[in-house]
Amino acid sequence: MKYYSTNKQAPLATLHEAVVKGLAPDKGLYMPEKINKLPQNFFESIDKMSFQEMSYEVAKAFFGEDVEHEALKKIVYDTLSFPTPIKKVEENIYSLELFHGPTLAFKDVGARFMARLLQYFTKQEGKEEVNVLVATSGDTGSAVANGFLGVEGIHVYVLYPKGKVSKIQESQFTTLGQNITAIEVDGVFDDCQALVKNAFMDKELNAKMKLTSANSINVARFLPQAFYYFNAYAQAKKLGKAKDFVVCVPSGNFGNITAALFGQQMGLPIKRFIAANNANDIFYKYLLTGKYEPKASLHTLANAMDVGAPSNFARILDLYDGSWETIKSHVSGATYSDEQIGETMKACYEIDGYILDPHGACGYRALKEGLKDGETGVFCETAHPAKFKDTVEEIIGAEVEIPERLAAFMKGKKQSVLMDNDFGAFKNFLLNNVK
Ligand SMILES: *Cc1c(COP(=O)(O)O)cnc(C)c1O
Repeated sequence: MKYYSTNKQAPLATLHEAVVKGLAPDKGLYMPEKINKLPQNFFESIDKMSFQEMSYEVAKAFFGEDVEHEALKKIVYDTLSFPTPIKKVEENIYSLELFHGPTLAFKDVGARFMARLLQYFTKQEGKEEVNVLVATSGDTGSAVANGFLGVEGIHVYVLYPKGKVSKIQESQFTTLGQNITAIEVDGVFDDCQALVKNAFMDKELNAKMKLTSANSINVARFLPQAFYYFNAYAQAKKLGKAKDFVVCVPSGNFGNITAALFGQQMGLPIKRFIAANNANDIFYKYLLTGKYEPKASLHTLANAMDVGAPSNFARILDLYDGSWETIKSHVSGATYSDEQIGETMKACYEIDGYILDPHGACGYRALKEGLKDGETGVFCETAHPAKFKDTVEEIIGAEVEIPERLAAFMKGKKQSVLMDNDFGAFKNFLLNNVK
């Protein structure tokens, strides 16, 4: 299957090219030329399949023409080695817990899947090691580092701003070792991003080594998130609650919800979607006015959703042929201030005994306010509340237990390379260290 760019000015790409490039040369996002529908009997028996079994069927529809089936099966089974349960919070309202992976947030699946797919294509090409450069302000770095951990033939360099990420976040990518190198830059996140961008443009570096990114807009990172929604539907079906099924996704760059929309296009019976925003309300405003007006992002409690120009908006527009009416018929929106996020977390804890993280809180509230009679809804709990321990504890006035996995990271020994905010120094480091 070929992939086209949402800007329609770039040549069609193979899956291999789309995964290595990330962004199309015309700065558009790659889209598959067709979305294969799954057969009716798949949906009838979906509640009798394991998460891995159903995901393999979904993955074949996306990637089955381009990846050998046995290899694809391995990738899927390796990627989805943890559960994504739905938990009842209130009558007809369920939390889809996407935080049981290695870094306790939903980006784990996409990162791992991309790592394994990149490895598959790299192996076909020969022996040369691929170097992934990633700049992070915290969470992306940990998902990518853990996704790529131990994946042979790929080395990851995580650049992060010294002193500007939380200890919990830092521990998740500086304690790993193996094929993961953490680079602590004396600067801010934008400096890290500039170093990475300069490296991708440097002729000498690119001649000497294979460099690639693990950008969140990569098709291999966003599409596998569709698996979650098949599994959510299957669990609801098992409970007899799959009729008029509504999915609510706390959204920032809109990758996760776009994957869910793809699921619906494949035939998954989702009645409608709700995109929950924090104060960064660009999509919400678009639904109201039909105008897409990106702006500078605002800092909020749900900081992984602090996005002022959601990159996957281009995919949503493309999916529905640019029609505002069609988009509105599938997706509604919501936006919440930090104050509302806080009161929602507190109320949900006090009334239902369920601890929300600030991102999930947007989802829960949007679903609760938007659900109609006869509908059943799930909202994504995109991160474990312990990842935002201080914030959550202060708001709910109770202690949040740190899961074993997170505690283990925090006990690990930090290993990082200190780097001046200087491209010459970064370039020399790569030239001397990369094989
Ligand atoms: C990345 C992230 C989001 C937003 O997901 P998008 O795909 O960017 O919309 C929400 N919650 C958490 C915890 C995240 O890390």
